[in-house]
Formats: sequence, structure tokens, C-alpha cells
Amino acid sequence: MTEATMSKTKQYLDEAERYSAHNYKPLPVVLDRAEGAWVWDVDGRKYLDMLAAYSAVNQGHRHPAIVAAAEEQMAKLTLTSRAFHNDQMGPFLRELCEVTGFEQALPMNTGAEAVETAIKMVRKWGYQKKGVAAGRAEIICCEGNFHGRTTTIVGFSSDEQYRDGFGPFTPGFKLVPYGDIDAFEAAITPNTVGFLVEPVQGEGGVVIPPSGYLAAARALCDEHRIALMADEIQTGLGRTGRMFCCDWEGVRPDVLIVGKALGGGVYPVSAAIADREYMDVFRPGDHGSTFGGNPLGAAVGRASLRVIVEERLAERSDELGSWFMQQLAEIDSPHVTEVRGKGLMIGVVVREESGGARPFCEALQERGILAKETHHTVIRFAPPLVIERETLEQALVSIREVLTA
Ligand SMILES: *Cc1c(COP(=O)(O)O)cnc(C)c1O
Repeated sequence: MTEATMSKTKQYLDEAERYSAHNYKPLPVVLDRAEGAWVWDVDGRKYLDMLAAYSAVNQGHRHPAIVAAAEEQMAKLTLTSRAFHNDQMGPFLRELCEVTGFEQALPMNTGAEAVETAIKMVRKWGYQKKGVAAGRAEIICCEGNFHGRTTTIVGFSSDEQYRDGFGPFTPGFKLVPYGDIDAFEAAITPNTVGFLVEPVQGEGGVVIPPSGYLAAARALCDEHRIALMADEIQTGLGRTGRMFCCDWEGVRPDVLIVGKALGGGVYPVSAAIADREYMDVFRPGDHGSTFGGNPLGAAVGRASLRVIVEERLAERSDELGSWFMQQLAEIDSPHVTEVRGKGLMIGVVVREESGGARPFCEALQERGILAKETHHTVIRFAPPLVIERETLEQALVSIREVLTA
């Protein structure tokens, strides 16, 4: 690297430092180009993207079919608002319902908005259909959860930093330990309307619940007439080796929440998906979004879904993920305490005494691999699902070096 190019990265970092709110602590790399599983920085260095924008880029960066769909749609119609219909939203929601096996879908943009949509839906369902007294509905959530950053959502986070300084918070949420079915059962009251759960906790550190947990939660929800709300924003759309992570236990939630890869890394697209029993509670004016269901997002969503199905990305994630996780587990490292994951959603847990995950991510960056720590001690490996096995093999050489140093 010459001095001139080095200063290019530094210039962008300085600018962001000065003008951006400091609500993130990104790795010091400035990207300006990407393709498939690869990204390039402003100094021309090439990196393997092992984060895939927190699984929003499952289909790979700039997938040609998704970019083409976006370009085609941009040349025709991009935004109508929901005050008018457009010719993309209906087909998009039909295809989304066909892929997920539900009756209806409500389109939003970001994941947090889809979670908020699910919360509103289930609360109103609880009042209208379950007969809970006004203002009493309770939703049970899990410790270690991540469902987004709105004031309502951070109010039921168990991470103090997410809440600190942002109260007062929305009442009506209860926390139970993740993976503990007895704790869930004990928390149920006649006012419980929903159980909001991630099938694998992503931001919580790639935490896998005991096998049978979701199926047992499904049974309790049936018994007590509680809506099972699966937040598959990160785990869904192929990431864990099934189309949806709930599929691993044959569980069908009552409300399925999707986002991230639904926009194919091109555009924010999310949705809350459910049968009419739940969706019926919404009347005109109850809920909405200026951009939700817009024709550009809908066209991108259609292409994003088609790529996942046609390229069998869930199967690919299953095969590559099992093999890659095995390879990681075989690394004899003094720093690693556990390797866990499902499909290509993998966490390598390192010791606190080894300095946590951050120094390892920085060392990987120096070797051309971008991975991001989660929860201080977990290195997350979640590359685009289109990644080649040979690419993962190459990456393993560097990962071994870094973990055994
Ligand atoms: C990323 C994420 C969200 C929030 O999505 P945004 O698009 O950032 O609002 C919610 N739930 C889970 C499980 C996520 O991983």
C-alpha cells in the first residue's frame, strides 16, 4: 500500500468520525465495491465478507437477478404509497405467502418495523379474539434477545446498554431465560398473548436453544392459546440450512417475522406474515408505512425470494455450514471454548482472557477476512450463502493462523 492510498481510507474514517453519530464501532475498513462473497475497499484491497450485512446479503452482493429486477422496476415505478395500489405488491405478497405457507403478509421496510407490526397484531388479536381485558396484554420475550432498536423493542432487551438512557419503556413485556421451557411455562398468565422468540439468537452471540425447545414452545402456545411469534429476520431465508430455522423442528409459528435477506442486500424489505385469524385484526388506518409494499421493494423482494428458492441456498447453507463448522471445531486453539451454529450461521466463542473476539476480527481483517464480533467473545462467521467451498477452504487457512497464534 502506498502512502497516498493509505490516506484514502484514513480520509473516509476521519470524515465519518467527525460527521457521523458514534452509534457504531465498525472495523476500520472503507468499502466501495462488492460482488458475490467479496468486497473491496477504497484502497483496492479485497476481502471475504463473512458477515454478509448480518445476513441481509444471503444471496451475495449485487446478485445479477436482484439488481436486474431493481433496475427494471426503477425504470417503471418506484413509489406510490399505500394510498394507491401498485402491480408489484400483490404478486410479492402472494409469492411470500406461497414460500412461507401462510395466508397473508403485511409488508414493511426494516426488521424492527416488522417486529413492531407483529407486536401490534398479536396484542390486538389478544383483545379481540382471546378476550384479554383492555390494556392487559402481555408478551413473553427471552433474555439475550435482539429484535431491533425502537423504543418499544429496546424496552424488553436484557442488554443494559440498549436500554440505558432511553426510558421510560412500553409496559406489557416479560423476560424469561432463553432455551428454558419451564421458565416460559411459569411466566404464562391468562393475559399472555404472545411469545416472541428467535429460533437462534443472532446478536445474542449465535445462541442455539436445546433441541426440542421450539416444538415445546409450540405445544405450550397451543395449550394456552398464545401466538408463537418467530423472529426469523436473521435466521430465516436459508441462513441456518433450512428455509426457516423453525423448519428444523417442524414448527409453524403463528406470526413469522422476516426482513434482512428479503431485500437481497439491495433494498430494505421486511414483513410480518400470519393467517387471517391474526391479520384480520388490522382495519384501514390501524397500521402502515409510507414505503412498506412499495413497487421497488416488492420487485426486489420477489427476486430475492426467487434466488433463494431457485439456487437452493438453504440446502447449500446446510451442506457448507456442517462441513465448515466441523473444520472450525477441529482447530486446536488455546483461545476457543466453543464452536456452535446451524447452517452458515456460526459462532466461535473465545476466552475473555484472550481479549475477547475483537482482536481476532482485527487480525482476520489484516488477512483479508471481514468478520464481526458479537457479544464481546463470539466471532461470527455468516458469509453470503452463495460462497464457494474453495473460498471457505482458503479462509480456513487464515482463520487457523489467527486462532492458533
Ligand atoms: C437485525 C435484526 C432485527 C432488526 O432488523 P433491522 O432491519 O435492523 O431493524 C430484528 N430481529 C433480529 C433477529 C435481527 O437479527
